[in-house]
Order: sequence, then structure tokens, then C-alpha cells
Amino acid sequence: QRVKWVIGNWKMHGRLADNATLLQAVAEGAGAVAEAVRMGVCVPTPYLAQVQAQLAGTAIAWGVQDISTHAHGAYTGEVAAEMAAEFGATLAIVGHSERRAYHAESSELVAAKARRALEAGLTPIVCVGETLAEREAGTTEAVVGAQLDAVLELLSVGEAARMVVAYEPVWAIGTGRSATAEQAQEVHAFLRARLAKKDASLAGVALLYGGSVKPENALALFGQADIDGGLIGGASLKSQDFLAICAAA
Ligand code: 13P
Repeated sequence: QRVKWVIGNWKMHGRLADNATLLQAVAEGAGAVAEAVRMGVCVPTPYLAQVQAQLAGTAIAWGVQDISTHAHGAYTGEVAAEMAAEFGATLAIVGHSERRAYHAESSELVAAKARRALEAGLTPIVCVGETLAEREAGTTEAVVGAQLDAVLELLSVGEAARMVVAYEPVWAIGTGRSATAEQAQEVHAFLRARLAKKDASLAGVALLYGGSVKPENALALFGQADIDGGLIGGASLKSQDFLAICAAA
């Protein structure tokens, strides 16, 4: 039985006061979540110190939503994985579709970010997913397969075994229109087979689903054989919803 993960992606939401309320409620509620569920929140970088202060000593992990491919240097505006790690971060989302779309991140760049995260001791959460046009054209597996392959080409098998992969169909993100449990399972099974083909040891990589996960659909999604939890956007900003999703894992 693989462990389950429920990770919140706050995206560019929150302010000090709102975060304090949200973090307190989530920390208080975490005790009721099964110990086997790894809970985490990925926050805007300026709030890492706040999250560290409020979550240190709890079972909830925290991290960032992107990192630089460099460890240091003349890269104005970028944040190194080591900098996040200094504030206790253990997670780094890389290759979210919003970064692929709005910052033209290629799969090769995403792979380099995943490797940097691992070098700094962070767990990369590598996002893959197809657009609606790609799904309708029947190219879902080709798209997510190529996104995953770029990472598998750059990482050693030992490194890849330490990553988490999140399948996030672009058409399901922030739209209220989640993939059905069956649609998600189909892609997860494909991704797991692709990992296992690279190396048998990679069959155990955690595969999370993301895209309009809510308390109402979490149980069905997380009940699928190859879905190891979720990457939660909007619903992670509401403590009750986030905790209900964690309870469904
Ligand atoms: P929503 O849960 O808001 O659809 O966002 C999903 C997502 O992009 C998480 O990374």
C-alpha cells in the first residue's frame, strides 16, 4: 500500500492575516487526519517564514510553487531550492501548467528544476497534463508521456524514485469541472506503466491528481487504484474543504 499525499497549492493567494487563520485551522484539524496521509501546503515564497513559524512541529509539510534551475548567481527575481530549504521547505512544485503556459516553461526546463529540487533535498512535485484541445485530438497519452519522459531522461533512477508526479488536466484546473475518477485513473495507470517501464523501482512513485478536487469528489478520485492523493488549488484555501479532502485520502 503506497502512502497518500494531499498537497495544497495556494497559487498567488493569501496575505499574512488570512494565512495565519488558515494555517491555524489546518494545523488544528490535522490531528484528525490519518497518519498515513502526508499533508502539505505550497505557498507564495514570501510567506515561507510565516508557514515555518506556524507549522513547525506539526505533521504538515510545506514548500514552494516553483524554483530556479540554478543554485545561486546573477538570476534576478529567481529563488533557489536551497533558499526554500533554509525555511524548512521540503516540497517544490515544478512544471505547473500555469508556469508552462504563462512562462513558456519547456519539459526540459521542468526536468532541470526537478533535479535541482532533489539536489537541495526537496521533493519535486512534477506536474503534467493535457489541454482540452489535446484531449479532444486524442493525444493525452502522447502529451503527458512526453512531459514525463523529459524528466525521466534527466534524472537518475534513484532520483526519480524520490519525486512525486501530479496529473493535472489543464481543462480541469480552476474550472469546477474535475476529470471523472475513471478518466483520471486511466491516465494514472498509463503514467505508472511508463514509470515502471523505465525501471521497476519507479512503479511506486506517488501519482497525485489535480484539477477541481473538492470534498464531494475526493473520495471517488482517491479510491482509484493508481491515484495516490491530490494537488489541491482553490479548495486548499478553505480549511474545512482542505481537511475534508485530506480525510478522504
Ligand atoms: P484547482 O483545484 O483550483 O482546480 O487547481 C488545481 C491545481 O492547479 C493545483 O495545482
